[in-house]
Amino acid sequence: MEVIRAIAMARKVCNAARSAGRTVGFVPTMGAFHDGHMSLMKRARDERDHVVVSIFVNPLQFGPGEDLSRYPRDEDRDLSIAGELGLDVVFAPGVEAMYPAWPPEVTVDPGPLGDRLEGAARPGHFRGVATVVAKLFDVVGPSTAYFGEKDAQQLAVIRRMVRDLSLAIDVVGCPTVRELDGLATSSRNVFLSLEQREAAGCLFLALSEAAQMARGGERDTATLVAAMAREIGATPEARIDYAAVVDDETFAEVSTIAGPARALIAARFAETRLIDNLLLPAS
Ligand code: AMP
Repeated sequence: MEVIRAIAMARKVCNAARSAGRTVGFVPTMGAFHDGHMSLMKRARDERDHVVVSIFVNPLQFGPGEDLSRYPRDEDRDLSIAGELGLDVVFAPGVEAMYPAWPPEVTVDPGPLGDRLEGAARPGHFRGVATVVAKLFDVVGPSTAYFGEKDAQQLAVIRRMVRDLSLAIDVVGCPTVRELDGLATSSRNVFLSLEQREAAGCLFLALSEAAQMARGGERDTATLVAAMAREIGATPEARIDYAAVVDDETFAEVSTIAGPARALIAARFAETRLIDNLLLPAS
């Protein structure tokens, strides 16, 4: 496995793989690997010949006052996990390599999808995500890129970017990996105290309740949102940021479920902000 820091070298190695007729699979990450990251890397390893994972904590997707400086980092551990999974390349550039001029003046506009929910709570977040992913796509040149459904709105933004910019990349969404109580694995879970960790199970409980109600035929999203808010509200450690039901493609909020819809929640546990979501059954 090669660990590459320079863009030119990453480009060269990936070009060589493609020239040799190998398909390139790509998993973009911010490191601090957990089972969610590993499921993406395994899937890429299973499906593609030459597999690249990037580790880059992208400053452009963090707002002022967010957790950029305390974001968990453990590169040594990440490298040994990537090695064990049999990946070909870890691309771990520094900020200067990715942003030769800071801040960049030319960025990727994620469109209206980027202004909703997570985008409203974190202005500029999806512009930062779309920009860095576009840059990474250009360096790696994958045929297939793997993203987690855990960050469903991010996945939707990337799908839309690939469509609107006519990028020749297959975007694969991978199921959310969860702990036994349903909490989605996340790099940020390490910040939770024992009590907060226990309380954080309320996110999945709330989403599951909405899913169950939808399965039972409830189509009114205000009722589903109220049920989710009630579940989070009953958890003293949690402070709700938003609960919503959206159209699964546009992420516009819907009042009635008429097609594929997704329930989403963002909540804070003291300083730690967690998000989760679930596709609602069609009943
Ligand atoms: P991150 O390092 O948090 O930027 O995540 C890198 C990739 O892993 C993204 O595509 C995430 O959606 C995905 N991911 C994060 N957590 C999970 C999870 N619990 N299950 C599946 N994928 C995940």
